[in-house]
Amino acid sequence: MTKTAEAAKATENKKAAATSNANAKKATTTNKGNALNELLRGLPQVDEVMKHQNIETLKHALAHDFLRTAVRDVLDDIRQTILAGVDEDYKIPTTEEIAHKSCVHALQLIKPSLRHVVNASGVIIHTNLGRSTLCKEAIEAVNDVTKGYSTLEYSTKTMSRGSRHDHIEQLICTLTGAEAAIAVNNNAAAVMMVLNEFAKGYEAIVSRGELVEIGGSFRVPDIMAMSNAKMVEVGTTNKTHVEDYERNINENTAMLLKVHPSNYRMEGFVEDVSIKDLQKIATAENARRKKEGVKNKVIVYEDQGSGVLIEDEFFKKNGEHTITDALKLGVDIVSFSGDKLLGGPQAGIIVGRKEFIDRLKKNPLARALRLDKMTLAALEATLRTYLNEEEARVKIPTLRMLTEDAAVTKKRADKLKKTFEKEVSSDDVTFKVISEISRAGGGSLPMCDIPTYCVCATFNKGTAEEADRYLIQECEPPIIARLTKDCVYFDARTLDEDDLPLLAKGVQSYISQVK
Ligand SMILES: *Cc1c(COP(=O)(O)O)cnc(C)c1O
Repeated sequence: MTKTAEAAKATENKKAAATSNANAKKATTTNKGNALNELLRGLPQVDEVMKHQNIETLKHALAHDFLRTAVRDVLDDIRQTILAGVDEDYKIPTTEEIAHKSCVHALQLIKPSLRHVVNASGVIIHTNLGRSTLCKEAIEAVNDVTKGYSTLEYSTKTMSRGSRHDHIEQLICTLTGAEAAIAVNNNAAAVMMVLNEFAKGYEAIVSRGELVEIGGSFRVPDIMAMSNAKMVEVGTTNKTHVEDYERNINENTAMLLKVHPSNYRMEGFVEDVSIKDLQKIATAENARRKKEGVKNKVIVYEDQGSGVLIEDEFFKKNGEHTITDALKLGVDIVSFSGDKLLGGPQAGIIVGRKEFIDRLKKNPLARALRLDKMTLAALEATLRTYLNEEEARVKIPTLRMLTEDAAVTKKRADKLKKTFEKEVSSDDVTFKVISEISRAGGGSLPMCDIPTYCVCATFNKGTAEEADRYLIQECEPPIIARLTKDCVYFDARTLDEDDLPLLAKGVQSYISQVK
């Protein structure tokens, strides 16, 4: 049996149990109960439906057991409907109707669940839609490495065992100026591993202004607790000073942690302590410890989050410093995501001084959280693209979408409008290009309004709400747009040239089935 069939079987069993429960409860001797039982008895047996022509045809393509499960599901649904109470003139569906429904249901079950969608929402690093899309080079690298065996842990140079870290470490060091690097499953994993290695059983000092929650249940205090580091909160929500750290540093302090408040910004009477100042505090403490012959050092670790690798006015303007900047300011370790502003696959990259990265490589968590070959291939190819900054800006979709001139976006919106108008009658839908705002998304650049152009569709036939549902649920690939009160917006900034005809076909297909 296939996986989906197994899953279907499990729901089927659950439903069967629920049905018999409901049956038992309803097994009263009232007339109503009798009428219900009459209806239930009128339903065809599974075997009878299985013999229907429609099902017979599908038997060539789908396993017998799988089809049986689909028929059972449909029959169970009908039973549930009847038991929940139906009108007196209710007629049970015919075998033909049940067979048809079962076929539709079976075909639904074999559809892949994780699949490509068109993002017309204008949210660039859309967390629900898989954050960054990979550049062409990364997709090709994944294809190549999954064709068969690979050099994942083999060196053709030494003709012996190699390390999976080697494919990316040199590249990351070149791009960031770091001494050493390692990448794990995601940045949350990176934070956990760094805390576990350096602050387990010790104290880590963090500003109250940086105790943030970052999307999908990543909370700094929880990660601290998980890694057995004792969190020492200093300062206040809006202001933390150098003295707050100095007053709390002691022989049990292992780390000064700085967390980038990726997804929110505080304005007004605000102050935090810079990396440079944190490094000064750590250096003074380490000098004191050296004199006293204490081996353990205090390290400065920045959870930078978003992962900016290139100098760019756009990032600077939005208060994002590069990884190179952080290292230059004297931070010992920095970690960041691979799929946010960097624009690669999901990963957590840790860079810093070699003595520290070497320790991380030996941590058992490094093995548990290690990257697989597909991610490594995508990450290596993405990083390689960065070797030529100008190329990176064009080739890496996330960078292109974030920094594209609005005039270029407008051209794409104009083209989309034309494509729509060729496919869809203006009597049914009117299209207008309007100036709008895109979002970076993914908990990055929260205050940044990115000027964009959308095609706004007003539905004279059907409704915007229905069209939006149709585009998501009935189109292949699903089309995710932006629904407002009366219109559907298609944001040209997150669209690809290849998407334009798909959008036009989708809207046309919706219109053609409106009664
Ligand atoms: C996004 C983010 C994380 C979590 O990273 P993932 O790659 O999503 O696991 C942690 N810290 C900061 C500051 C972030 O911005």
